[in-house]
Amino acid sequence: CGIVGYVGPRQAQSVVVEGLRRLEYRGYDSAGIALVDGGRVATAKKAGKLANLEKELADHPLPESTTGIGHTRWATHGPPTNANAHPHLGATRRVALVHNGIIENFTALRTELEDSGHELLSDTDTEVAARLLELELLAGGDLTTAMQATCRRLEGAFTLVAVDGLDPSRVVAARRNSPLVVGIGDGENFLGSDVAAFIEHTREALELGQDQVVTITRKGVAVTDFDGTPVEGRRYHVDWDLSA
Ligand code: GLU
Repeated sequence: CGIVGYVGPRQAQSVVVEGLRRLEYRGYDSAGIALVDGGRVATAKKAGKLANLEKELADHPLPESTTGIGHTRWATHGPPTNANAHPHLGATRRVALVHNGIIENFTALRTELEDSGHELLSDTDTEVAARLLELELLAGGDLTTAMQATCRRLEGAFTLVAVDGLDPSRVVAARRNSPLVVGIGDGENFLGSDVAAFIEHTREALELGQDQVVTITRKGVAVTDFDGTPVEGRRYHVDWDLSA
């Protein structure tokens, strides 16, 4: 329901958790984060309020990292449990992914995965996308091309945001029928389901169009369509009053 992504010089955990707090007004039933650390992804997720996730992070601290993603869930597929909370992982735990929306063809994709030996750990439509994304990545290319290929297989409404444990330089996201905004900083960049996720840090934003994939690094932002053709996002300045 709420989504945050960050890459830059700061500790991603605090940027992401702050962003999730800013998105709390949307309502949610679970929360989780994933950080890229030394060749793997580290995750924490909990049903219930953001405070439950924060307690989990205090009791079992994640490693320091400057690349991360976070999610607050509004359950559509499977009850609000720790297992169904996002992020969801690929089979080798290399990829972590969060998702807003509904993947309409998830039953067929889940059957396909199970027939090829995957044992899914949650009831969500999201985990199917995480598994597919990791399979695409293992087949070659990078997280950006893997995301494009995955999106070509998905139907429905989705905002997806993912990290690759072997590539701390980037966070990759995609959207179809569901909102996603990029926050453009100086030596750092942000992703959010709305600008509230990053407005404390930057008011320069990039709006994505339908069926687009965006890659953020410390140095820049690159947008393509689902076929990998570069496209331009629409830049704008957010002039909301923060106190409102
Ligand atoms: N369909 C996904 C789930 O049930 C995502 C829900 C959301 O938008 O938070 O986990």
